[in-house]
Amino acid sequence: MLNLTRERSQPALCPFCRGPVPRPEPLRDGLWYEFDGGLCPTCGAHYAHDPTARNGGATMLQAMVQACGGDWDAALEMAPGEDYDEAVLTHYDGQHHRLAERAFGSLYFVRRKPSRG
Ligand SMILES: [Zn+2]
Repeated sequence: MLNLTRERSQPALCPFCRGPVPRPEPLRDGLWYEFDGGLCPTCGAHYAHDPTARNGGATMLQAMVQACGGDWDAALEMAPGEDYDEAVLTHYDGQHHRLAERAFGSLYFVRRKPSRG
């Protein structure tokens, strides 16, 4: 395909499994979700889209709540590195669903670890 742009861009891939993730979409399951989000079809990581790069913590928290099925209490009790892994994709261009050098959005990823007995 002919590409006239000089800016290099890359597809948005899950930072955990390197699989392609669908474009974030408004989440509608009866809960408060401020940001668009989605689910990695390969490894089950949840993600939320911060289009402004100013919401950081709130966007990450939403991804944690998504990973807990909407359970705020469970999300707030999770410990990073023990109960879940987190990762951020920066330079995310939500309009084209690509990573580009000049884009300033972020995708925040949360993947729960298997619960320990
Ligand atoms: Zn994944």
